[in-house]
Amino acid sequence: MKKVVAIDGPSGAGKSTIAKMLARELGFHYLDTGALYRAVALHLLQQGFQENAGDEEITLALKKVRVAFRQGRVMMGNVDVSDDIRSPEASHFASVFSARKPVREYLLDIQRDAARHADIVAEGRDMTTVVFPGAYHKFYLDASVEERTRRRTTELLAKGYDVQEERIRTEIIERDARDAGRDIAPLKRAEDACFVDSTGLDVTEVFSLMLKSLRRPREMPRR
Ligand code: C5P
Repeated sequence: MKKVVAIDGPSGAGKSTIAKMLARELGFHYLDTGALYRAVALHLLQQGFQENAGDEEITLALKKVRVAFRQGRVMMGNVDVSDDIRSPEASHFASVFSARKPVREYLLDIQRDAARHADIVAEGRDMTTVVFPGAYHKFYLDASVEERTRRRTTELLAKGYDVQEERIRTEIIERDARDAGRDIAPLKRAEDACFVDSTGLDVTEVFSLMLKSLRRPREMPRR
């Protein structure tokens, strides 16, 4: 395995933006694992799967598709689904199907493969705990629910989705609970992860804080 900077945290904490910036700064590749979970969810939805689908059916459906994250784009076979996976529906079902064992097993190797030939900055929910427990540097990036709601609403409105802030807030709370409460690979802070609260900070402040931690790991709090 090459060098991995692993970042976990709840939705809307700013992981993607920061991970991309760190990858650019360090000359590493960027791995957005949420995008992989979203693509799998999209595939299952397109196959007509509901929340109560059985594990065996899901395993079979996943044998027929190859999901990949390449140069910032998300591919399902040869189809670029980078835009389709960002819909509120894909967000909801990514969170639902990501709790399922066949889905997590299917994506585990794909994620680890990304670090076989390149140094990477990987972000998601279980980078620091399950996928890359031996990562070179670990972060847990958080922000208040209010701030995450504001960021997510602004992002979706800018993409042309007709969304209400209160609805987004409810969805964020539901997704947090599902991601942290599931049996397999729940979202949690790894003991050895550097904790960063981005509430009230702008992107450049968070970026420089995390860069400082990478360069001087002993000076940053782990909790
Ligand atoms: O990060 P993003 O919001 O794109 O992730 C979509 C969903 O995929 C999350 O709500 C979470 O349920 C799931 N996910 C996961 N493990 C990861 C990354 C994402 O369970 N490593």
